[in-house]
Amino acid sequence: MTNPLLSDWNTPFELAPFDAISDEDFAPALDEALAANEAEIAAIAGNDAAPTFANTIEALEAAGDALDKVLSVFFTVAGADSNPKREELQREFSPKLSAHFSEISSNKALFRRVAELWEKRDDLDLADEQARVLMLTHRGFVRSGAALEGAEEARMKEIKSRLASLGTEFTQNLLADEREWFMELAEADLEGLPQFAVDAARSAGEEKGAKGPVVTLSRSIITPFLQFSPRRDLREKAYAAWAARGANGGKTDNRAIAAEILTLREERAKLLGYDNFAAYKLETEMAKTPDKVRELLMAVWGPAKAQAEADAEVLTAMMRADGVNGTLEPWDWRYYAEKRRKAEHDLDEAALKPYLQLERMIEAAFSCANRLFGLEFKPLDLPLYHPDCRAWEVTREGKHIAVFIGDYFARGSKRSGAWCSAMRSQAKFPEEQRPVVINVCNFAKGDPALLSYDDARTLFHEFGHALHQMLSDVTYESVSGTSVARDFVELPSQLYEHWLEVPSVLQEFATHAETGAPMPKAMLDKVLEAANFDQGFQTVEYVASALVDLEFHDGAAPADPMARQEEILTGLGMPHAIGMRHATPHFAHVFSGDGYSSGYYSYMWSEVMDADAFEAFEEAGDAFDAAQAKALEENILSTGGSRDAAELYVAFRGRLPGVEALLKGRGLAA
Ligand SMILES: [Zn+2]
Repeated sequence: MTNPLLSDWNTPFELAPFDAISDEDFAPALDEALAANEAEIAAIAGNDAAPTFANTIEALEAAGDALDKVLSVFFTVAGADSNPKREELQREFSPKLSAHFSEISSNKALFRRVAELWEKRDDLDLADEQARVLMLTHRGFVRSGAALEGAEEARMKEIKSRLASLGTEFTQNLLADEREWFMELAEADLEGLPQFAVDAARSAGEEKGAKGPVVTLSRSIITPFLQFSPRRDLREKAYAAWAARGANGGKTDNRAIAAEILTLREERAKLLGYDNFAAYKLETEMAKTPDKVRELLMAVWGPAKAQAEADAEVLTAMMRADGVNGTLEPWDWRYYAEKRRKAEHDLDEAALKPYLQLERMIEAAFSCANRLFGLEFKPLDLPLYHPDCRAWEVTREGKHIAVFIGDYFARGSKRSGAWCSAMRSQAKFPEEQRPVVINVCNFAKGDPALLSYDDARTLFHEFGHALHQMLSDVTYESVSGTSVARDFVELPSQLYEHWLEVPSVLQEFATHAETGAPMPKAMLDKVLEAANFDQGFQTVEYVASALVDLEFHDGAAPADPMARQEEILTGLGMPHAIGMRHATPHFAHVFSGDGYSSGYYSYMWSEVMDADAFEAFEEAGDAFDAAQAKALEENILSTGGSRDAAELYVAFRGRLPGVEALLKGRGLAA
């Protein structure tokens, strides 16, 4: 019998036949698909004919079909509906997959063919997208070290493997420090804490085997404690432990590991021919160079610092009124900021909730996509991987565009957070293939299901990623949909959040679950205002971390990262009462792996763009302006990675993004 993962899917929209697939099918299907892909690669690499775009690059694009099918189903259920068997499979698959892909990227014969095409690129008469795919394929090989020979190749292998184990060690040390520390609280110490924080402290106490409630270093426990506890001495103790993660001496200390990682990254970049690691990392990004990143961060830093300093004065005065003398310290900021928030912007979450029904918010997201891009959504009745999943057919003027799946509710089998993935990406080569896109969220079930305002934003955010996949209109799958630079990929998602804030959208869709009445204007205003609260602090703690990350990787690796960090912060004039959002010994984004190293800036880069991009609609005087929507689809939502990100942005906006809209949005404009 054929494995259902590998057979032809003769289902509506060629969707995976979830009802026919069992967990026992995954392992044999993966082995078969890996072997098939190895054979495909061997055939391409060993082709006797001289390399052509068709027999090499297009052949690579067309390869791996079976593997795509197996992995798209497996990763969907492993993330959104796991069980012990699927967890075990994941542990088994992960080393197999990384060995498989590193085998391909170090295949010399294959690389020689790609390199030969690259040499001749100007004579190949390639279309723009083809030239781009050739460039990306070649660059991918070079960046992974395929062009190195002999001693350099061996050294690169050593560096990669050492970096991988240092990253794991860094993560494990951090987890150990976070697990180790806790502070016992007497009943009286719970004073001032809201019920959810008290409950969390009690269950943490049980978990630690303590006599009563405890504060731990889990962000969801320590942050509310710093925000609400009037006990300054306890806040100081908790903050000190929080700030010292990864720097406590002994065998879980991460400082020497960070130094070694930075040195090895520099060596790796130099072996590949780059000046330094930041130059290597940023080559593939929209930002392209460390100077561009620095310029953006510094443009935000000045106004953010000025706002934070003004806020510090207000908070210091509140502290004095509380009878506390001395300087405002990092363990005071959240506490007095919370008091101030309550006084200035108190937003009653409980009263807000009935206005944000999941069903209505889904309708709102669809309605905006209809007004902007003419998309229509029709519910489908199909077997999916969990009864909570729902599917819609997405069409435009009667033409099939995509299948959209929404898996909205939290459950024990789903990992936390929210994400968007494509079970099938759009492509036209080797044949027309329409996308199947999933949004997975963790909203609480209810009848009706009600969202917080943050949840509603998440729904719009993930739907923005989904639009980037569904509206994709490229030839090759490797540049389809969200296959774009990391500092560009959050633009469509963050931009889409802006339509939730359009007053007419909330007025139409934020209706009371019982009375059907639209959200009162005063509540709407409060919701929109609250989003801007304490942005001086948040921007400063973030930008300081992003700048330290950048400076660590731009230039020679520092012998003593802690001293270098201090020097950078002093140079910036870091406000005394604000700590870095992530200091070096616990900066997991940068040291646990390579994902965000020299790339922590990208959150803000995207935010600058989404604010600036939405302003195009504001300037047009209509959030649904047809010409702007068309330009957005043509230049950004349909183009995937088929063109350079900066070029795409300029094509949409007529210029590169400026920081003004972000500063205004965060309430930081002068
Ligand atoms: Zn996102």
